[in-house]
Amino acid sequence: MRIGFIGLGNMGAPMAANLVKAGHEVVGFDVAGVTVEGVKMTASAPDAVRGMEAVITMLPNGGILRSVYGEIVSAGEKGAVFIDCSTVDVESARLAHDMADAAGLLSVDAPVSGGIGGAAAGTLTFMAGGSKEAFEKAAPLFDIMGQKTVHCGQAGAGQAAKICNNMILGISMIGVCEAFSLADKLGLDRQKMYDVVSTSSGACWSVNTYCPAPGVGPKSPSDNDYKPGFASELMLKDLTLSQQAADAVDAPTPMGRRAAELYGEFVENGGRGRDFSAMLPWFQGKGRTN
Ligand code: NAD
Repeated sequence: MRIGFIGLGNMGAPMAANLVKAGHEVVGFDVAGVTVEGVKMTASAPDAVRGMEAVITMLPNGGILRSVYGEIVSAGEKGAVFIDCSTVDVESARLAHDMADAAGLLSVDAPVSGGIGGAAAGTLTFMAGGSKEAFEKAAPLFDIMGQKTVHCGQAGAGQAAKICNNMILGISMIGVCEAFSLADKLGLDRQKMYDVVSTSSGACWSVNTYCPAPGVGPKSPSDNDYKPGFASELMLKDLTLSQQAADAVDAPTPMGRRAAELYGEFVENGGRGRDFSAMLPWFQGKGRTN
């Protein structure tokens, strides 16, 4: 396939590289002037779109996505599939679909889970929203860049699934960190705490796969001085998106709201640039009132 790729940052660059490795012809554009081996860079976003059968965007946020789509949809080949893999608000995702639709293009919102490691290894999970026809055209590319894809429903459904999943993750990580911090103060050995919880009803991904206590459980960012991994500010971004969405549809998310507040405080007080599991040492330094 001839593929245009816009936004070749931490995630986009390795995803594009995997498409090249699989034998696709990839042209790319990024305002930062980056280069990716095997990807022919263009001078503008529309130049990375003209004549392409598929166009992938991997951008920082919904505002940038809207402005990039404003520039590129009119350059799209009729019937081409536009795939947005950025994590953005549901409203921007739906607007991007509408813009693509009005220009005679197929479109899919397909945010990912799996982080930079998953992007490099081609093991991302894609959560896709859009018509069956658009999804089926995009699916072979998801199979190259990822190991699991779920077609979640119509326009915006991928973004909806992503923010709901990450709301669970943010809440569960905070729960695990506060439980480990309480266990510490009760004099419990961390390995024993892990042995019990990981095989009991407290078991969850935040304990079993990504334990925030260094030296306990499988290797995770806590074993690497909490270098991300998944940075706290990205977790804050996703929790903020989930709160925006909850406001828009009047859904009660009391734990999601508290999780967003706590990650907001953490990011402002030493958490920026650290993995989101570094909530554990942050809690360790606190008492009940500070
Ligand atoms: P990044 O900042 O490394 O990459 C974004 C790229 O977009 C940058 O290279 C930037 O120069 C480029 N860009 C910005 N404005 C542009 C424009 N107008 N035209 C062209 N290029 C433009 O971010 P990232 O970590 O690669 O994340 C990308 C998206 O993936 C985000 O929405 C993020 O929430 C999501 N995501 C990231 C991770 C992760 O672990 N990093 C995990 C899952 C999802």
